[in-house]
Amino acid sequence: MKYFIFIAVLIAAAFLTVLTQVGGAIYLASWVIYLLIRKRITKRYWRIATRYALFIGLYLITILLIMPPIAKKYGRVPLPFIETNHVRPLSIWTALLNRNYVHPELRAITYAVGDEMNRKYPGTVINYMDANFPFRDGFPLLPHISHNDGRKLDVAFHYIDKTTGKHSNGNPSPIGYGGSEPPRKGEPDRPSRCTSNWQYSFMYGWMPLSDKLAFDQVRTQDMINAFIKQKGIKTLYLEPHLKKRLHLTSKKIRLHACYSVRHDDHVHVQL
Ligand SMILES: [Zn+2]
Repeated sequence: MKYFIFIAVLIAAAFLTVLTQVGGAIYLASWVIYLLIRKRITKRYWRIATRYALFIGLYLITILLIMPPIAKKYGRVPLPFIETNHVRPLSIWTALLNRNYVHPELRAITYAVGDEMNRKYPGTVINYMDANFPFRDGFPLLPHISHNDGRKLDVAFHYIDKTTGKHSNGNPSPIGYGGSEPPRKGEPDRPSRCTSNWQYSFMYGWMPLSDKLAFDQVRTQDMINAFIKQKGIKTLYLEPHLKKRLHLTSKKIRLHACYSVRHDDHVHVQL
């Protein structure tokens, strides 16, 4: 039984490391503390509660207080947990899982785009999606291949509330990914060309999507142009059919490979 628990703890730690980078180490540390104080707790349910409380408490203290100043020394800063300068995570889990770290320049650019969009369309918020982990170049933020150096960020599109016809800051997908705007007839159709790569459309077609929102071409086009305009932004990835539909001509929008994932549910920007 003890051997089984030991293996289960190691598997959980590995999983948390892949998901959050630092969560695995925090989980192991919480187990060590638990084993040291365990004998003092007699009731079984208190032991279980203590184990969870130790991990959650240590995790929150680390990600909210300890990690940001250390990551800053290594050149990465967190994007905000709650709306700041018209920028927020589309899902709070992106920030809670430490997938919200970027190079300081990329954060400044995102805030500048948030400001510009808000001047033009008051109340508009930039919803960010996966960015990078806090530490170490080369540590991949799965399932993304390239989000490993603090210089990459996925940004959600804008939508219109179908019932009111007004701008919405929501997204049809709870995490942004999977809410694709697929190619229409006559538009370039890269997803069909990449069918031999299983992962290309792996988020497409199964995510529960809200049918209350319609793609807002105007604001999405303006937001992408606002990123393009920023000198620090060198490359963007967007599906060719949306590039055409949004009349985007910048050479900064590059064609991603079929071993990537489809980019018709978000735009990828990078320094
Ligand atoms: Zn990306």
